Amino acid sequence: MRPRKAVILGGGPAGLYAAWTLLQLGFETHLIEREPVIGGLCASLPAGLNCYSHGTHAFHDADAKFLEEFRSLTGNNAIGKKRQVRIQLGGQLYPYPLRGIDLWRSLPVGLAMRCLCGFGGALLAAPFHHDRPGNAEEAIVRLYGRTLYEAMFADYTQRFWGMPVREISAEFVAQRMPRFNPAERVRSLLARLGLGDRQLNSRRTELGAPVMYSTPRGMGAMFEVLAARIEAAGGRIQLNAEAVRVLCANGSAQAVVWRRDGIEKEQECDLVVSTIPVRQLVQRMEPARPSAVLEAASGLHWLGMITVGLLVRKTQVLDGAVTYFHGRSFHRVSEPRQSGVEVYPSDCTTLLAEVTCKTSDKAWSQPSELCAQVVRDLRAEGVVQPEDIVEQHLFRAEDAYPAYLMGFEPKLAAVRADLGTIRNLVSTGRQGRFDFMTAATAMKMARADVLAGLARLDA
Ligand SMILES: Cc1cc2nc3c(=O)[nH]c(=O)nc-3n(C[C@H](O)[C@H](O)[C@H](O)COP(=O)(O)OP(=O)(O)OC[C@H]3O[C@@H](n4cnc5c(N)ncnc54)[C@H](O)[C@@H]3O)c2cc1C
Repeated sequence: MRPRKAVILGGGPAGLYAAWTLLQLGFETHLIEREPVIGGLCASLPAGLNCYSHGTHAFHDADAKFLEEFRSLTGNNAIGKKRQVRIQLGGQLYPYPLRGIDLWRSLPVGLAMRCLCGFGGALLAAPFHHDRPGNAEEAIVRLYGRTLYEAMFADYTQRFWGMPVREISAEFVAQRMPRFNPAERVRSLLARLGLGDRQLNSRRTELGAPVMYSTPRGMGAMFEVLAARIEAAGGRIQLNAEAVRVLCANGSAQAVVWRRDGIEKEQECDLVVSTIPVRQLVQRMEPARPSAVLEAASGLHWLGMITVGLLVRKTQVLDGAVTYFHGRSFHRVSEPRQSGVEVYPSDCTTLLAEVTCKTSDKAWSQPSELCAQVVRDLRAEGVVQPEDIVEQHLFRAEDAYPAYLMGFEPKLAAVRADLGTIRNLVSTGRQGRFDFMTAATAMKMARADVLAGLARLDA
């Protein structure tokens, strides 16, 4: 019997791990990646003598067994470092996640008192909330009280998303909002007692893993090793190849058409695993999906991210490997050297300043003014002086963050229900699921989704 063929769309962590899983199960695998480098959002991006990345990237997971498996799969070249994250508040740097005492120190006394009262009020009110908050603003106010929301979250969240917090779904808070340590403890206690809004407590933020792993070439090098293993095991990987059509008939995917250097090729298959943005997948299926599904898909949006990478003639410029800032053009800056990434020349360090933006923004297509502003802001923060900057690079990630805009949930449900009618198609990973997740979670989800898809196929 001929081996079954799988086409995997996307060569990020999820696509690579799906390919590896299918190879172990005896499939012929063909992975198609649009970019010239493997690793997706986690890729190590060469520029000049160094490797940069799409913002802060280090591998972490609370599951020690999975970590061990992944580290051995990627050649045990990972360097583990304790998490060193700082948040800048009121001109001071504090360890992140924030402790109540640091918050207290960072605010003027009167404001701190009002925050404390608001927070206490929010905790007391928690057991009485049994409905879901209407939007992200309401959800954060329920967690921390209005004064703390306005002092700490409103401006940052609005700047990050480029829209009023009221226009963001409460689901965003459930998935990604950081918790202050004491608040987290009280809330998980309430949840264990069956009190409070369980939806908001349902998902851990994955901020708890104490050790972060990188390599001398950045986290992306781990995925380069995994890609080499896949190829050594007989899997095909095609870079610079864009999946343009998924051809379907009789409720199953028959073939994938991909384009490279302007030439289209078709690959027949028994299974398609897609890790590309789910909106794009739906739009590329032939024959076209029902118009209601296409409309729902076009209502799912992603936020892009521009990373300004700097080579700086100093050996260290940040207090911790990662620092969050308020009120600047960037929201986060990291220094990969502190995570074990090698920098050339050796008397230099690299910096990654992250700026979220919409792909329709002027900054996306004409980023020179943004880069200049980033340098001005870094200087104002005392991080770098312009004369220390040796090189400046720019990296863009179009689909960095699934945007949980109000009302996205039924659209996503409609799209996923429709995709579920194609018996040999799996849409998984961060982009395929439209779900905030780390690389480790994307990989584990890809494996679980592939196994569930095969069980359905073989039933
Ligand atoms: C700023 C930032 C920082 C992060 N930091 C961390 C961190 O420190 N640790 C961590 O674990 N996670 C981190 N993450 C999350 C991590 O990047 C993702 O969880 C992970 O990359 C998801 O993997 P994926 O394979 O599901 O998706 P992706 O990595 O997005 O991969 C999808 C792939 O599909 C390709 N593709 C898209 N369209 C097509 C097409 N038509 N044809 C072919 N290929 C296509 C893309 O080029 C991409 O390579 C961070 C994310 C961001 C945005």
